[in-house]
Amino acid sequence: MRPTGKLHLGNYVGALANWVKMQDQYECFFFVADWHALTTDYADTSHVKENCVDVMLDWLAAGLDPERCVMFIQSHVPQHAELHLLFSMITPLGWLERVPTYKEQRENISDKDLSMYGFLGYPVLQAADILIYKGDFVPVGEDQVPHVELTREIARRFNQFYHEPRIIFPEPQPLLTPAAKLPGTDGRKMSKSYGNTILLTDPEPLVRQKLKTMVTDPARVRRTDPGNPDVCPVGDLHKIFSSAETNANVNAGCRSAGIGCIECKSWAADSLVSILNPMQERRKKYEDNPRLAWDILEQGSTRASQVAETTMKEVRDAMGMSRDFGAASNAQRAK
Ligand code: SF4
Repeated sequence: MRPTGKLHLGNYVGALANWVKMQDQYECFFFVADWHALTTDYADTSHVKENCVDVMLDWLAAGLDPERCVMFIQSHVPQHAELHLLFSMITPLGWLERVPTYKEQRENISDKDLSMYGFLGYPVLQAADILIYKGDFVPVGEDQVPHVELTREIARRFNQFYHEPRIIFPEPQPLLTPAAKLPGTDGRKMSKSYGNTILLTDPEPLVRQKLKTMVTDPARVRRTDPGNPDVCPVGDLHKIFSSAETNANVNAGCRSAGIGCIECKSWAADSLVSILNPMQERRKKYEDNPRLAWDILEQGSTRASQVAETTMKEVRDAMGMSRDFGAASNAQRAK
């Protein structure tokens, strides 16, 4: 996850909630991608560190547990950069220029100059991020599937060139995060750039205030007009966060005009608050002492570095770049 500052409910539903479940099903590595942040925000790095800590606090608040997963900062494991460099030597330019997000972002982001080497190459860095842990699965949304496919292609190409004494990289599979439609307060997709977010750190009064101004089914102009929760952003929030019982009451009450939007929104706020409150309580311990969170990241970086270095030894060995004289001459002989 890129360090973009405090996380919102869209980040939670789109990734984090899924990660919390995954830490009991897989051996997971989660990292704050500070180098990736530079691919678009290279000109001002003054907030990178504080944003990394903010993201980490939200991860811990949401329930990621250092006993059950490895959490770290990408730049603290420099082996990612070494593997990125080596992959960049074997990745054809055409593969990168075809990546759909590359084309989209070049067209849509006009306030920054993205004609940079790092921006074109960021899927190669992603491939290094994944393959350095020999990841079998990568939890992604639909839009990131082409990046996982590119990672598979890079792994395949590397394995073709350098397979002595053994094949090094598995081909990872995408693990699709079920897409949940999470609208922001203005009804558009929840996103920082639209200014329509509800943050995981928003206190209860602010959550209630934001809900009060949230847009609803436009057909429901007067209190007596029946509405339809399926076309109402508040209805979408209920579907994701409220109980089956509340959803049944919303459905019946909205369609018959038996409830007003104000009441319906207060139920939605209740549901959100019941999820956010325990997160905010967990967060407080680390907020009061951010050093604790930093130490977890550092321990995670140490653990991740051990795994990454083991892979890099194999890579250097296979490419004839081992510091070990015996291994170097073995690779020579294999050629
Ligand atoms: S009652 Fe609820 S679901 Fe129906 S339009 Fe109002 S806010 Fe939306």
